[in-house]
Amino acid sequence: MLPPGSTIGILGGGQLGRMLAMAAASLGYRCHVFAPETDAPASDVAAATTRADYGDADALAAFAAQVDVITLEWENVDREAVRQLAELVPVHPGVHSLEVAQDRMAEKQFVEWLGGRTAPWAQVDSRAGLDAAIAQIGLPAILKTRRMGYDGKGQARILVASDADAAWDAIGQQPAILEGFVNFAHEFSVILCRGQDGTMVDWPVPVNLHKAGILATSTLPPPALVRAQAGEAAALARTVAEKLGHVGVLACEFFACSDGPRFNEMAPRVHNSGHWTIEGSAASQFENHIRAVAGLPLRPTGLMASHIEMTNLIGADADAWPRLLADPGVHVHLYGKGEARPGRKMGHVTRLGK
Ligand code: ATP
Ligand code: MG
Repeated sequence: MLPPGSTIGILGGGQLGRMLAMAAASLGYRCHVFAPETDAPASDVAAATTRADYGDADALAAFAAQVDVITLEWENVDREAVRQLAELVPVHPGVHSLEVAQDRMAEKQFVEWLGGRTAPWAQVDSRAGLDAAIAQIGLPAILKTRRMGYDGKGQARILVASDADAAWDAIGQQPAILEGFVNFAHEFSVILCRGQDGTMVDWPVPVNLHKAGILATSTLPPPALVRAQAGEAAALARTVAEKLGHVGVLACEFFACSDGPRFNEMAPRVHNSGHWTIEGSAASQFENHIRAVAGLPLRPTGLMASHIEMTNLIGADADAWPRLLADPGVHVHLYGKGEARPGRKMGHVTRLGK
C-alpha cells in the first residue's frame, strides 16, 4: 500500500485529472500532473505540474523520477512514452489496457473475442476501402477514426452513398472503421474498478443521454430494458478488465437493443458517466481509482439515493452558475475552465432524489 504523503503522477490535465487529484488529496496523497496545455484544470488542485509534450522523453523521465506511481486521465498518451515510464515507475492501468482502448478496431475485436456483441463494423484504410465497407455494412452508417476520437469528434455519418467523399475528408482520411447504425432503445455504461490484487467492484448502471454526440445526462435508476441487460453487460466488462489485467477504473459503453446489449467502446479511466458517484455512491469512481492505483482495498459502491441525475454543463450552460449554486438540492462541480466554448465541458451538476 502506497503510504500517505506519496506522490501520484497523472498523465493528462483535464477535469478528470482534477477530480482524481481532489480524491487523492483526501487520502493524503500529492498529485503531480503531466500535461501539455496551459491552464490545465487539474493543475489548480495538484501539488505540481510538468508542462510538456507527451512525446518529450526527457520531461517524461524527469516526471517519473518525482512520482511514486503513475496513472492517467487521458488514454491517448503515446504507447512508447507509457512503456518508457513503466520501466521507471509502476503505471496503472498498464500498456495492455491502453493498446486495446486507444484503437476502436482493437477494442471491438477484443470484446468480440470475449463473446461480446458490437455494432456491425468493417475496417477502412482508404477511400476505395470505404466503398467496400459500405457494400458490406450497408447504410446508414458512421465512419469513425480508429484513434483519438472523443465527444463525437473524428466521426462522420453516411446516410447515402454520395456522402462517402465528404465523410472520408471530414475524418481526415485516416485509418477508420465503418459502423452500421444500431437501432438502440437506450445507452448505458458499466463502470468498474479493479484493484492490484484482482478484486473488482462495479457501480449500478446509469442510462446515458447524448446530445450532438456529447454526453448530456446520466440517470439512475435506468429504464427496465437497461436494468434487464445490466448484468450481462457487467459480466462482459468484468471479463474485459480481467483479461487486460486492468488496474483502476474501466468504463464500457453499451447500446441497449431489443435483442440484448451491444458493446460500443471502452475507456481505461474514470468516465463522465460516472461523475454521479461523487455524491450518489458510497465510494466515488475517483476514490476507488486512486485506491486501486495506490494498492489500497476498494470501497463498496452502494447507492446513496433511489434517484440520481448528473447533468453536464456544456458551453454556455455554465453561465447558469448563480442559479445552480443557489439551489440547495444541487451539487455543483465547476472545472475552472476559462472560456465557455460551444461543446466544451465546463462542469456538471448532480441531484439526489426527485
Ligand atoms: P464519447 O466521447 O462521448 O464517448 P465518442 O466520440 O468516443 O464519444 P462514440 O461513443 O462511439 O464516440 O459515439 C458517440 C455517440 O454517437 C454514441 O454515444 C451514440 O449516441 C452515437 N453512436 C455511435 N455509434 C453509433 C452506432 N453504431 N449506431 C448508433 N449510434 C451511434
Ligand atoms: Mg462514447
